[in-house]
Amino acid sequence: MKKDKCFYCGEKMQKGENKHSVTIDFKHIICCSAKCLLLLNEYFEFVQSNKKWWVSGLVVGVVLIFLSGFLFIASVVFGTVAVAVGWGVTGLTVYFFPAITTQANFLMPLRKMKKIAKITGFIMMVTAPLWFLVLFIVT
Ligand SMILES: [Zn+2]
Repeated sequence: MKKDKCFYCGEKMQKGENKHSVTIDFKHIICCSAKCLLLLNEYFEFVQSNKKWWVSGLVVGVVLIFLSGFLFIASVVFGTVAVAVGWGVTGLTVYFFPAITTQANFLMPLRKMKKIAKITGFIMMVTAPLWFLVLFIVT
């Protein structure tokens, strides 16, 4: 028998079982409990009202990392600053926005995504200053 999975926590449910559901991005999403549904709603509301931060964070982060390659040619200092800031900003963005669409569910439950994103983002944020060590090593 095919089983449904809670979008938020990944708990398996018997198909057709009493479910809490919501429609996000035209996708019907089911949760195992009212608690999961509430957390899911809270997360997507947060994402909706902060989408501009997600977009700018990712654009700034990725552009800086990309540009740092060219900046390094001009100046090692500029290049390092660009990498460090870009790295940190990308980490910060990942930390706060593990998933912005419901497509994320194809990978893993949202709760798990959030946990992984928090760890990845945190590591990126704390390692960002390490790029300055590179500066000391090469100069
Ligand atoms: Zn659940």
